[in-house]
Amino acid sequence: MTASLPVPVVWSQDCLRHDPGGEVWLGVKDAGTEVPERALVIRDALAAAGAPEVPAAAHGDEVLQAVHDPALLGHLAGVWAEWEQAGFPAEWGRDRVVPYVFPTEGMLGGLPGRLPPAVHGRAGRFCYDTMTLVGPGSWAAIRGAADVALTAADLVSAGAQLAYALCRPPGHHVTGSAYGGSCYLNNAAIAAQALVAAGAGRVAVLDIDAHHGNGTQSIFYSRGDVFYGSVHVDPGAGWFPHYVGYADERGAGPGEGANLNLPLPPGTGDEGWLTAIRDLCAAAAAHRPGAVVISLGLDAAEADPESPLRVTEAGYREAGRLTAALAPTVLVQEGGYHLPTLGPLVIAALTGAAEAVTG
Ligand SMILES: [Zn+2]
Repeated sequence: MTASLPVPVVWSQDCLRHDPGGEVWLGVKDAGTEVPERALVIRDALAAAGAPEVPAAAHGDEVLQAVHDPALLGHLAGVWAEWEQAGFPAEWGRDRVVPYVFPTEGMLGGLPGRLPPAVHGRAGRFCYDTMTLVGPGSWAAIRGAADVALTAADLVSAGAQLAYALCRPPGHHVTGSAYGGSCYLNNAAIAAQALVAAGAGRVAVLDIDAHHGNGTQSIFYSRGDVFYGSVHVDPGAGWFPHYVGYADERGAGPGEGANLNLPLPPGTGDEGWLTAIRDLCAAAAAHRPGAVVISLGLDAAEADPESPLRVTEAGYREAGRLTAALAPTVLVQEGGYHLPTLGPLVIAALTGAAEAVTG
């Protein structure tokens, strides 16, 4: 009999209530891969591995407001009710909130952008793509995922070496003021901010999701107290988020040097991925973090439909071992979409993390 996986798993049943109902990609609505079953298969696998489950505790909005524009929080909390009230589901067959116009710099051309009262106009001010749909249960899940991240951060602030936040929906694409990329609030940034607020000193966020965490980078880009480092598929090779995530983005002002992007070519497997993660860990260690947040995306795995990276379970185990060795660590669930392998992948990463702290 093997020992139980000694990592507390923070969970909220509310995380299942978000049903995006698909995504509009390049103008066509597809089934989408960010489905509630993702969280269920991970939860079941961790329970079978003997990991203890901790229910998420309700938290106030203070930390959320420290990383997000309160207007974004208000919009997300109320947009479904407004959408329904405006008659879009019943009268127009629009059963999810999807924006159709976006106040980009190109549209405004230097003119002042107003905040339109009509919800179908305003939606594009807070959501920057067409893939990130909102339905009736979305806000409960979004807020629940933030409580999961905050509860995991509490465990580490209280002395735990490791805690895993089973957040759904994921979060690392959310900036201070807008959501996208199947993410709504930035759970990893919320965890990092909570650790700072609890006195961790400096914090390092290490993002090993297959995609660059543009949201987390932007939130901390001008801050020296939170290092952000990411290993991801090269956005210049045709992958989301396309516009940012390049190696020459190193931070600004007090955050100069506290941002590190290590983009990898499509097809990169364990060797190249782990070499980049070792470099990331060395840079994070130089920042002398008192706590670490890992944005744990499982979509760098070979079988994942959302990325061309080819990482194995053994690769994830080693990544867990390398990253969690730096300081007490909160692991926050991000992407990962191949349902049959999500459980084994998360167990591999958490097993590696547990090995790092037990020696
Ligand atoms: Zn991803």
